Order: sequence, then structure tokens, then C-alpha cells
Amino acid sequence: MPKKVLGIIGGGQLGSMLASAARKVNIKTIIICDDPNAPAKKFADEFILSNYNNDQKIEEFAKKADIVTFEFENIPYLTLEKINKFTKVLPEPNINKIIQNRLTEKDFLNKINIKTTLYASIENEEELKLNKRLLPGLLKTCTLGYDGKGQHEINSIEDINNIKLDPKKKYILEKLVKLKKEFSVIVTRFASEKYEIYEPIENYHEEQILKNSKIPSDISDDIKEKSKVWSKTIAEKLNYIGTMCVEFFIDKNENLYVNEIAPRVHNSGHLTINSHNVSQFENHIRAICSLEKIPTKKLFNAEMINLIGSDISNYRNKKFKENEFFYDYLKNEIKNKRKMGHLTIVKKLKNK
Ligand code: AMP
Repeated sequence: MPKKVLGIIGGGQLGSMLASAARKVNIKTIIICDDPNAPAKKFADEFILSNYNNDQKIEEFAKKADIVTFEFENIPYLTLEKINKFTKVLPEPNINKIIQNRLTEKDFLNKINIKTTLYASIENEEELKLNKRLLPGLLKTCTLGYDGKGQHEINSIEDINNIKLDPKKKYILEKLVKLKKEFSVIVTRFASEKYEIYEPIENYHEEQILKNSKIPSDISDDIKEKSKVWSKTIAEKLNYIGTMCVEFFIDKNENLYVNEIAPRVHNSGHLTINSHNVSQFENHIRAICSLEKIPTKKLFNAEMINLIGSDISNYRNKKFKENEFFYDYLKNEIKNKRKMGHLTIVKKLKNK
């Protein structure tokens, strides 16, 4: 039987890790990406350099693949739809349409009774003034922001008076949550009520960029349970196939909120490569390629440290211990705030 070919849109480190996981289960990969230096080029079987609105290249890519997925969610919806006409895209493009936009994403969550922070749609300075009940708040662009990009903290009327909104952009104002902890739940949905779910992963951010993740998380059993139920509900309501990540906040009064959903594998789940028998990447591939679902088990507790910007230089020639796993994303240039690699440290489970 010829090997299945998986098409991956995007060639960053998540693309690399997806391609490596695909190889493990005997699936070939073809990546399309607009960056000639895409790190994932080194991990895929085939690479197409193209921007995401080149119809001819998009068609060539789609026709070469048996199934298509993506490593980042901000792909134009039209591109996903075009690909979907030739080859099935999973998770389905209409899921991306909801999640790409912070406003439709939060509306969806509230509609299914999942708590988020209070928020309002903002298109101009007047609307900001009308929503001062949400201060202190964070003003975010509805689309295309990540790792704190496109976000402004607004604490006072003075801040509102000083801000200049871009009339071409749409915004959301979110009430600032008094954060006690942040964590994420990674879940892979194979079919209706058929899941593999990882235990909640505690996350620590610096300058709004993920710095550390660890399991076990230091949160109450009640919250652990509730967050897993919410994550499954979200996946079920979206009719999601594949791995997704739900990011949570806990406030100082132990209230639980969903911050956002990532319709893809996620940075906080990198530790699953070493801590579990099946990683978030392999589970994603198993789900979208209709492979066998293997019961996912934790083998080790773990901590993951993101190596951001010049951090990586201290690790490239380092000697590592048996329980330390270093990943260099092989990016051609070190840049400030750029995720360059990560280190996972595994720890024996108590009963082993
Ligand atoms: P985001 O891009 O929305 O995931 O935000 C990046 C980070 O900013 C989060 O991980 C939080 O640390 C912080 N943040 C975002 N939204 C809020 C909020 N409404 N309240 C408090 N902190 C927030």
C-alpha cells in the first residue's frame, strides 16, 4: 500500500515536530510555507515555498496530499477552503473561522456556557469610553495577535484618551483577570466522545510569552476536573478532529476562565514528547489520519523551558543529563523574543 501523505501548512517548529511524529507512524509529509528558511523544511519529505494566496501552488500542494492540517491558525480562511476542495483539511476550516477572531471565539464559548472574562467589541475610541466598566482591561486586536502582540493595557480614562485606534482594525476589550495561575489542557478528539486528554499543564509566562510548562500542575483537583470537562465540551461542540489546546486562567478567588483556544498542537504540550507514551503531535496525526487510538499514559512528570532569543546560545554546546532533552529548532537567525528551542526535564513518577 502506498504511504499516506500528510500536508502541513506552515513550517515553524510545530511543523517540524508534526513532521517528525508523522515519520514515526510511517506517514510522509509535504509542507507549504512562505519562509524560504522555514525550520520544518529539514524535517519534511517535501517542501513547497509559496505564499498562502498563490492559487497554483496551493492546488499543487493540496493535490499531493491525502489529508491536510496546519501548524498555525492564522491562515486565511479562503486558503483553507480552497485546499479543502481538493483534499480534506482537519481540523475543519470553519473551526478556524470561529477561533481566528477573539470576538467570535469568546461569543462561541459563552454560548456554550463556558466562562471567559468580561469583554466588549470595540471599533472606535467612543466605544472604549462606553465600556469603562471593563477597566483595568486589555485591548487586543480581534485577529492576528499572539504572544502579547497587538495588546495594550488600559487602566484609566486617561489611557483611553491617549490611545489611537486603527480604523481599519477591529478590537476587543477584555477585563483584566487578577491572575493566580495559568494552565492549559491539551485534548485530542478522534470522533464523537472518543478522546485522549492530557492532565492540565501549568504555564508560566514572561512578557506574555510562554517561558515554562510543567506537570503535575499545582492546582486543585476540582479545577483540574472542571477544566478537562470544559475542554472536552469545547472539542465536542466544535466537532473537532485532532489535537487542540485550551488555555485557562485561575483568578485570586479560584474562579476558572478560558482565555483562548488554539486549534492545533501547542507549545505547552512539547513536554508530552518525553513525558507520555504518545505525544500531542502523534495523537494529532493518529486522529486526523484515522490511525489507531492508543491509550495515552504518563511515563514521567516533566518541566519544559522555552529557550527564547539568545538563551539558545548557552545550550547549544552544553552536555545534558540522561533526563534532559534539548530541542534546537534550527532557526537561521537568533532574534529577540523568538522561540529558538526548548529543554524538557523528566522526573520519575513517585510510584516507579
Ligand atoms: P493571549 O495572547 O490572549 O493568549 O495573551 C497572552 C498572555 O497575556 C496570557 O497568557 C496572559 O498572561 C495575559 N493575558 C491575556 N489576556 C488577559 C486577561 N484578560 N487578563 C489577564 N491577563 C491576560
